[in-house]
Amino acid sequence: MAGLIGVFGGTFDPPHLGHLVLADEACHALALDKVLWVVTGEPPHKPGVPITPIEHRLAMVRAAITGDDRFELSRADVDRPGPHYAEGTLRWLQEHLPGVPLAYLMGADSLHDLPDWHQPERFLARCERLGVMRRPGVEVDLQALEARLPGVAAKVRFFDAPLIGVSARGLRRRISLGLPHRYLLPSEVLNYIEAKGLYR
Ligand code: ATP
Repeated sequence: MAGLIGVFGGTFDPPHLGHLVLADEACHALALDKVLWVVTGEPPHKPGVPITPIEHRLAMVRAAITGDDRFELSRADVDRPGPHYAEGTLRWLQEHLPGVPLAYLMGADSLHDLPDWHQPERFLARCERLGVMRRPGVEVDLQALEARLPGVAAKVRFFDAPLIGVSARGLRRRISLGLPHRYLLPSEVLNYIEAKGLYR
């Protein structure tokens, strides 16, 4: 059987050290061959929030993952019409990578909401594994979740990662206010942001 491939979706506006640490830990904990970074075109859960054009976000993710052969940029949520639900992302990937088992990566807070996602049963059926990063203060009742979405418990693999207290929103704010941020992002991403004058 082909090795497991991780699927890591996000807006990545911008990508930062928290994202890289999560992807790195997921590779280790779930023995992933690769992590596909799926840059969301139109995030369905962030309607009305202005986001940076997709070309810049793709370029920043490319810059962030350069040099790590395990990481790959995916256009799964760019080369198909939105809105971009995770079920559709996995369907697109399965059409383009037939027979490859996929591990969808998420935080424990998202796992809690999974039964309310778009077509959760189909989403779950397309996943070989759900790689779930534990978050402090977030308790997941797997039994209760299993009652709402049968089959979920058997697919979940929890993992821990060093906590990096950075968010894309916080970074956008810091950059716009001229607050320190250079050590919160890979230098390649910082260079891109500065060259293009983003988030000012
Ligand atoms: P925003 O602040 O704009 O909501 P974000 O930093 O949370 O963005 P996204 O691109 O929306 O970034 O997130 C992609 C994934 O990365 C999500 O599953 C999110 O839970 C996770 N993530 C974001 N920041 C961190 C962090 N510091 N540590 C671990 N995981 C993170």
